[in-house]
Amino acid sequence: MDLRYSEENEQFRSELRRWLKDAVPAYGPPPPLDDWPARRAYDTGWQRQLHEAGYACIDWPREYGGRDASPIEQLIYFEEIGRARAPYVGINFVGVKHGGPTIIVEGTPEQKAAHIPRILRGDEVWCQGFSEPGAGSDLASLRTRAVRDGDHYVVTGQKIWTTYAQVADYCELLVRTDPNGPKHKGISWLILPMHLPGVEFRPLKTLVGEGEFSELFLEDVRVPVENRVGAENDGWRVTNVTLRFERGTAFASAIYAQQEFLADIARAAQRVTRFDARAWDDAALRKEIGHLQAELDALWALVKMGVSEICKTGIPGIGGVAVKLLYSELDQRLGDLAQRVLGRAGLSRDDIGGLPSKRFLAVALKSVSLTIAAGTSQIQRNIIAERILGLPKER
Ligand SMILES: Cc1cc2nc3c(=O)[nH]c(=O)nc-3n(C[C@H](O)[C@H](O)[C@H](O)COP(=O)(O)OP(=O)(O)OC[C@H]3O[C@@H](n4cnc5c(N)ncnc54)[C@H](O)[C@@H]3O)c2cc1C
Repeated sequence: MDLRYSEENEQFRSELRRWLKDAVPAYGPPPPLDDWPARRAYDTGWQRQLHEAGYACIDWPREYGGRDASPIEQLIYFEEIGRARAPYVGINFVGVKHGGPTIIVEGTPEQKAAHIPRILRGDEVWCQGFSEPGAGSDLASLRTRAVRDGDHYVVTGQKIWTTYAQVADYCELLVRTDPNGPKHKGISWLILPMHLPGVEFRPLKTLVGEGEFSELFLEDVRVPVENRVGAENDGWRVTNVTLRFERGTAFASAIYAQQEFLADIARAAQRVTRFDARAWDDAALRKEIGHLQAELDALWALVKMGVSEICKTGIPGIGGVAVKLLYSELDQRLGDLAQRVLGRAGLSRDDIGGLPSKRFLAVALKSVSLTIAAGTSQIQRNIIAERILGLPKER
């Protein structure tokens, strides 16, 4: 396996770097976290600019507006986006990273025509309605039911942790269409328009202080049957297509951004002083930063190995589970280190004395959720134990 980039890859990098160099400063800083209309406008506006420049959804097939980018080009894309500190998909995450790709693979021609160009341009925002109060790690036990009534499904139930529900136009919704069969066999995947009567959401405030996700209540919501993706009761298979996209290279950009964040921590350590000494003068701290950098390098090499596997087989391998586990746990260590470097200034939600308290605190608080989101650490360890190491299955 050769993890170096080719000349052609480097040319793609320099073109993208040139475009980002002007486009990022011109676009300006993001709005406050709790201003949802402004966040939607900011993230979708950036998506539109990417689209106009030919850099939106680069991994999508050309016929759907992407550029058929190879996994290696995607890695370069993540490196450059991270390096330029450009906005990333933000609230477009579900549509761009897994809702859209699922429709490309599994949708009807009408579904593709209705949604794909709009997701690409940033005209349409999606959320994900998978988890329920009684169905998280064991997702297939979901109970939101959909009863067929002519050419509609009547949907009733509750979802939870629905990220970006407050700005979404559509939701990738899992429902139970057959309550009698085995649990994996009675699920269907629906496109839920969020404006339909009977759809209500209640934002849940997180530690970070924003209502990033919501409870989603569905009462007798009439969803057209033509909004079903895949066959009735075949939604578990479609769900696995969605999850494969979600877990593919979805974390790569965040992993690259960790390297920038560690550099920011090192910079802050050179400015914070305690009793006439800089935090940076502490040899133990410098050693810790060095170790973390080495671990981040190793993690990036693991991402590259995964990408080289995708190049060979066409699908993300099981190793993605280890990447997700390491990335989320490293993020918590980075957040903890950032707080220790700032000391008391780290407790402020506003910048103090020119130090990036606001951002460091936000990263530290947000990192707590990462070992739960997209599959908990315990579940990742179970998968590594059983499917990579071949240990006995849990009972
Ligand atoms: C920031 C964030 C964003 C999210 N966004 C969305 C979203 O947009 N849409 C959506 O549908 N969901 C979303 N989720 C939900 C997420 O997918 C679930 O929280 C996750 O799958 C865990 O499910 P749970 O919370 O029900 O915990 P549970 O499954 O109830 O688990 C509780 C605890 O038991 C442990 N556990 C469970 N089963 C096992 C086992 N077999 N072996 C060992 N330990 C086990 C878990 O590791 C965990 O520690 C989000 C979550 C977070 C934190």
